[in-house]
Amino acid sequence: MSGSDCLFCKIVEGAIPAELVHEGERLIAFRDIQPRAPLHVLVIPREHIASLGTAEASHRDLLGEALLLAADIARAEGVADDGYRTVINTGGDGGQTVHHLHVHLLGGRALGWPPG
Ligand code: 5GP
Ligand code: ZN
Repeated sequence: MSGSDCLFCKIVEGAIPAELVHEGERLIAFRDIQPRAPLHVLVIPREHIASLGTAEASHRDLLGEALLLAADIARAEGVADDGYRTVINTGGDGGQTVHHLHVHLLGGRALGWPPG
């Protein structure tokens, strides 16, 4: 699934609106429509990659950039000092519902562990 079939590709294309917090050459970030914490941002590659499970060696830099961008956004959003969580859900048991690779950035409250 990619392009017109994929919700997050539509956000990348601007066909579906989102509250963007970052627009870069290879990545964008936007607020989750159903936030699970006071700060809940999704960092996604512009390129359609279905999941971490289908990422390839050629995506090494992109994946690193995505994590560093999440850290930058955490600092910019004022949660870095108190801490935050980055999560990549993969596949059914991982709880992935949108099949375009995304990093969740969650912060602004103490988060439970382990996740449900
Ligand atoms: P997953 O469950 O695949 O790890 O995460 C998908 C996330 O995308 C969920 O947290 C969900 O709330 C979010 N989401 C689903 N549809 C939309 C949408 O149309 N806009 C935005 N901003 N977030 C969405
Ligand atoms: Zn996509």
